[in-house]
Amino acid sequence: MSSGKLIVLTGPSGVGKGTLVRSLLARHNNLYLSISATTRSPRLGEIEGQDYYFVSRPQFEDMIAQSAFLEWANYAGNYYGTPRDKVEEKIKQGIIVLLEIEIVGARAIKQTFPDALRIFILPPSLEELEHRLRGRGTDSEEAMTRRLERAKEELTASKEFDHTIINDDLETALKKLEQYIIYHS
Ligand code: ADP
Ligand code: 5GP
Repeated sequence: MSSGKLIVLTGPSGVGKGTLVRSLLARHNNLYLSISATTRSPRLGEIEGQDYYFVSRPQFEDMIAQSAFLEWANYAGNYYGTPRDKVEEKIKQGIIVLLEIEIVGARAIKQTFPDALRIFILPPSLEELEHRLRGRGTDSEEAMTRRLERAKEELTASKEFDHTIINDDLETALKKLEQYIIYHS
């Protein structure tokens, strides 16, 4: 059976991971984006089963106990995790699977999937990161402060990853990402 690949995109909140992934999916129909489970409340417009599986804390903890996650992490006060089944099924079918996850989970993937390609997305500057988080307008002031604090720690870890891409001009970043994925698959 042919075997697909796992591509992990990580980087601080607000850097543009979601934007890059959406553009990639729109251009390449051979990619599958894993849908995570989270205990975070849905944002306005987010759809169950499309953006996330929104679950309660006890449900998430049950899933941890059942080893249902490929990786999971606690991020800014909520749990986030990658359900294992679907990812393994798609990879067996020869499909390229994308994970868009924070850094603790991206580190953990190195143990479970040593062949995964792990890419760190960097902002042009911390000021621009804050500008993007504010511009997105989805987080409270408190959540934004937590995310920015966390971002400062995360940025120091970029060298642990296979590639780094600065998301300054979106099209340029997208081209680099496409090149890395094509080269890896
Ligand atoms: P993440 O998924 O990493 O949290 P998003 O994809 O939600 O980040 O992007 C955060 C904000 O930054 C969004 O408002 C998005 O439109 C904007 N953004 C993303 N990439 C760029 C870019 N290259 N230049 C300017 N703004 C961008
Ligand atoms: P948000 O609340 O903005 O949707 O996501 C917060 C952070 O959690 C982002 O950095 C996002 O990439 C990350 N994230 C989303 N799903 C997962 C997951 O399944 N596992 C891990 N470890 N992080 C995730």
